[in-house]
Amino acid sequence: SKREGFATIPNTTWEDIGALLEVRKKLKAAIVGPIKNPEKYERMGITAPTGVLLWGPPGCGKTLLAKAVANESKANFISVKGPELLNKYLGESERAVRQLFTRARSSVPCVIFLDEIDSISPRRTDSLHEASARVVNTLLTELDGLSERDGIWVVAATNRPDVIDPAMLRPGRLETLLYVGLPGPDERVEILKTLLRRKPIDEGLAKVAVDCHGYSGADLESLLRNAGQVALERSALFENSPERIQEGDFREALKMVRPSVTDIEKYEI
Ligand code: ATP
Repeated sequence: SKREGFATIPNTTWEDIGALLEVRKKLKAAIVGPIKNPEKYERMGITAPTGVLLWGPPGCGKTLLAKAVANESKANFISVKGPELLNKYLGESERAVRQLFTRARSSVPCVIFLDEIDSISPRRTDSLHEASARVVNTLLTELDGLSERDGIWVVAATNRPDVIDPAMLRPGRLETLLYVGLPGPDERVEILKTLLRRKPIDEGLAKVAVDCHGYSGADLESLLRNAGQVALERSALFENSPERIQEGDFREALKMVRPSVTDIEKYEI
């Protein structure tokens, strides 16, 4: 099992990510650059932002991006989901946040990935409302104490930027907002190619990808897995039937896998 408090550099690289070229560029400028060359910023007398917020529909690559940033920066990666920080016992939530940053400080350079950050919105109305407000406050204190020289970078992610405490988004905190949206037709082809690991992609596959309106990267992965299963069954049934995913297999899989993002209009920008 994974040793507690032990952070490592993730294996995910930019090559594992299809499309999203604009966001990549911005992440490289916002985080990879400053981690690799902090002295450049120092010479310029400016501070690099230490926090970014990735937002957009689920399954579109936010986690992959955060890992690739850490990988290219040769930074350790600590991933925490918002709800893991919530504890109804007084003081426990604050302690969890402080421990997180203490752990990060002992593993610099370090990227902290705060997923589902909307779950610690103080606007929530349930019994964790109080804990949530305390987590936000402790988080703000930690964020305000960061400078790029500390070597700690926070990448937060959410599907619901509308419920995030605006105080979190102020300068010096999660001040860089990057949208990670559903892929368009050409981007879906790019993602399929990435998922197929440079194996030759059937001409027909690209055609289907163009037709998969509304499918996220995660949906495409699921489609591919299903299509692979269909292809295996087909090639087992019919002699001389090619053992690779063909357009027909993919069309079959399309009937089984529906797009998971059903409220696209929520993410239209
Ligand atoms: P969530 O909001 O649900 O946490 P996310 O935006 O963080 O989702 P990821 O966890 O990065 O999404 O992606 C889920 C899976 O979908 C990945 O492991 C990968 O297989 C696939 N995927 C998503 N987007 C891409 C992409 N752009 N390129 C390649 N694979 C992708």
